[in-house]
Amino acid sequence: MKYNRCGRSGLLLPAISLGLWQNFGENFAVEKSGSILKAAVEAGITHLDLANNYGPPPGSAETRMGEALQKELAGLRDKLVISTKAGYHMWEGPYGEWGSRKHLISSLNQSLKRLRLDYVDIFYHHRPDPDTPLEETMGALADIVRQGKAIYAGISNYSAEGTARAASLLSEMGVPCLIHQPSYSLLNRKPEQGLLQELGRRQIGCIAFSPLAQGRLTNRYLNGIPTDSRVTHSVFLKENNLTPEYLAAAREWNALAESRGQTLAQMALAWVLRRPEITSVLIGASRVEQIHDNVACLNRLDFTAEELARIDAIQARYLPESLV
Ligand code: NDP
Repeated sequence: MKYNRCGRSGLLLPAISLGLWQNFGENFAVEKSGSILKAAVEAGITHLDLANNYGPPPGSAETRMGEALQKELAGLRDKLVISTKAGYHMWEGPYGEWGSRKHLISSLNQSLKRLRLDYVDIFYHHRPDPDTPLEETMGALADIVRQGKAIYAGISNYSAEGTARAASLLSEMGVPCLIHQPSYSLLNRKPEQGLLQELGRRQIGCIAFSPLAQGRLTNRYLNGIPTDSRVTHSVFLKENNLTPEYLAAAREWNALAESRGQTLAQMALAWVLRRPEITSVLIGASRVEQIHDNVACLNRLDFTAEELARIDAIQARYLPESLV
């Protein structure tokens, strides 16, 4: 594994981190999630990412992580960076989502119980809240860090402007913004329009979620739809996301990856990691082999100017709307 410094902080994160959004809820075999976690940690993936609502049902991924810390990962707490988040809908009523101090602190207390931990390493505000004063949300993050319930504070899904305001508020409160977690991949290049530059200027770390576009930047769908693939069971990825234009681009990217001696997944991860602002790529996995395939991207991270131009040309030809 390669470890990268997270922004200007003392924290090193693995270039590849594992998220428990999918495949760690009650609908997935517990032995399988345990073996994926074990394989990830054995491969040097020291960072595991959660949120209050990961499951299904919401909360069950944290419960499963708490169990794994007693079993497959027993004794490893201090060797791991465990994050969680609050902000998306978690429980009924006015305090179950968004960015109030009430929501963040109540939700983190619930998360800690499910995880069976006294503290998490990173606590995120999961999405901006247009109605709560940012001072309140950032004040809650800062207090959570001061209370020792989280070691570091982060934000997710914030715009470049929102990030600038949030980071300034946090630093006025003496708690730096450690990290931002945006969606960033070959199929979502929006962060290139200002967010990455803002993070670079402020030396805030960046962990890119869904770097494989939920599996679309792998060989998963090149020859039909496998019965166990995410498209068959997720509300967040549907068959109509696999358009003929997408498939044409994925096939050409796949050929380019092969010419580099890589799988498409490996090239897609290396492509995200090419940006100096990126601390880590935050992958998901439904089987142990995917962990091994993805970690092996580290064998070839460099790109020639011609390869980058070819990647862009394929995108411009088939998916111009995804090219910024
Ligand atoms: P990815 O883009 O890495 O997609 C993961 C999926 O891709 C896997 O479940 C698998 O699909 C497929 N896959 C992975 N590796 C391979 C491979 N080598 N070959 C073939 N297929 C492969 O990430 P996710 O969308 O899962 O998101 C990762 C994490 O990001 C989440 O767990 C969460 O922690 C975070 N996240 C954060 C959000 C936020 O708002 N902050 C929102 C969304 C995610 P299959 O199941 O079909 O096998």
